[in-house]
Amino acid sequence: MSGAGGDTGTVVGAIEAGGTKFVVAVGSGPGGRLLAREQFATGDDPAALLRRVIEWLAAAGEKHGPLAALGVASFGPVDLDPTSSTYGFITTTPKPGWADADILGPLRRAFPGLPIGFDTDVNGAALGERVWGAARGLEDFVYVTAGTGIGGGGMARGRLLHGLVHPEMGHIPMPVLDGDPFPGVCPYHGRCWEGLCSGPAIARRAGRPAETLEPDHPAWAITIRYLAHALATLTCVLSPRRIVLGGSVRKGGRLGEEAFFHRLRDHVRDVLAGYVASPALSAAGIAEFIVPPDLGDDAGVCGAIALAQHALRPPAV
Ligand code: ZN
Repeated sequence: MSGAGGDTGTVVGAIEAGGTKFVVAVGSGPGGRLLAREQFATGDDPAALLRRVIEWLAAAGEKHGPLAALGVASFGPVDLDPTSSTYGFITTTPKPGWADADILGPLRRAFPGLPIGFDTDVNGAALGERVWGAARGLEDFVYVTAGTGIGGGGMARGRLLHGLVHPEMGHIPMPVLDGDPFPGVCPYHGRCWEGLCSGPAIARRAGRPAETLEPDHPAWAITIRYLAHALATLTCVLSPRRIVLGGSVRKGGRLGEEAFFHRLRDHVRDVLAGYVASPALSAAGIAEFIVPPDLGDDAGVCGAIALAQHALRPPAV
């Protein structure tokens, strides 16, 4: 483990709050250091779901604990302003039952005095990759997931990216390539990054799911070019030392992950046109600049564990 505070041996609780399921766990890190885990369908009744989550965590804490902290990595948008009256709430989601849902309040009442780290799912995954995965030791990096939707988080100078609210990288505006008539699928913007490059966007463009498309299907080529524009934008704006690209789209379906990343890296270099001066963006260096995640399917729950550990030792990361 690095000096980032990843492996304390201390047992913490973790909640990966997703739009389709909540994964709950106790442990101290990935793999064998996850002592127990359970999952619950998200459904449309937040209060009822949180009661079940709290019961499970209390029982698991008695068996494996005691719990030193709790981490929550949540789908969003969420309110991350500790001075706000709705801190720890989901805010504007169209998901039935979840708009203005209080996630943090019931947990605080159930576990009084327990430190609770609360952040977006992507910042949680970013922190997990920083502690155990593909961004180990880096103070400036971006983590992006492209799947059902697109979201991004990361760190600048060793601090998780927050601000006005939290980054909404998936909704950055995009150029129109080659007169592309595809209107995009984002209900807010149409042709934002998520509207053009999410799994549903690829499926809508091609008329069938991304994983069924032949490797030379034109939908792959144009999607990868759009992805390259977005990653070039992030490179110019945030100057990350690495971009970790997770989610299902990057697996590339029948094209395969290796070919997908190879093409994506080439296009990012094309878009940047040699202007950003760093060996990381050279033909040889870019393979270490744009990378897949290390934590795989455990990224979300490991991110929540990392948020819990972060809450115990805020100056460490
Ligand atoms: Zn959008």
